[in-house]
Amino acid sequence: MNVDELMALARTVSGFMPDDEGAALTRHGLDVGARRPGGTWLEVGAWCGKSAVYLGAAAAATSSVLYSLDHHRGSEENQAGWEYFDPTLVDPHDGRLNTLPWWQRTIAAADLESTVIGVVGPSTVVAAHFNQSLDLLFIDGGHARDVAWADYRSWAPKVVTGGSLLIHDVFDDPADGGRPPYEIYQAARANGFDDVDAVGSLRVLRRVPTPGR
Ligand code: MG
Repeated sequence: MNVDELMALARTVSGFMPDDEGAALTRHGLDVGARRPGGTWLEVGAWCGKSAVYLGAAAAATSSVLYSLDHHRGSEENQAGWEYFDPTLVDPHDGRLNTLPWWQRTIAAADLESTVIGVVGPSTVVAAHFNQSLDLLFIDGGHARDVAWADYRSWAPKVVTGGSLLIHDVFDDPADGGRPPYEIYQAARANGFDDVDAVGSLRVLRRVPTPGR
């Protein structure tokens, strides 16, 4: 499938990514891939694979690889009784949320199994044993304060100079959404990343050279 076909498929996948923000993921992926072909990318928060196809479309076109990391048990806001609970994602075997089978079906349908590589486990544990630097990082995991900050602190230092950091669910107005993604976005701006673009709640930044390093 070409980039346009993959973007069309991504729009049909279950998830929390408006079409214009998804298109921005592909566009900025293509931009990074053009500047740094063959790169290593990682997304934190995979759910059913929607953003993995948007980014994967760009990765495949630029010989890059996307690690798609998730524990696949859903975030706090996805559990029973919360706002984003989906009972069809519960595994009858143990009654727990499990998005991994849906993620696998999505990546297979997109024919991206050699481009988008699933990593299943806690973000901080994986990060502690992951020494590869990143050309692109997309933070779209849990929104609880400790979770969002742990994702930022674990993974943002791995982004190379000239590499891209994308953060989802950043809302300037607290009335529109939770604070932690906004807080880590501001932390990134204060710690070596410059703004590149903003589409909806998606923020795109790039790591600038550190003076004297
Ligand atoms: Mg999100």
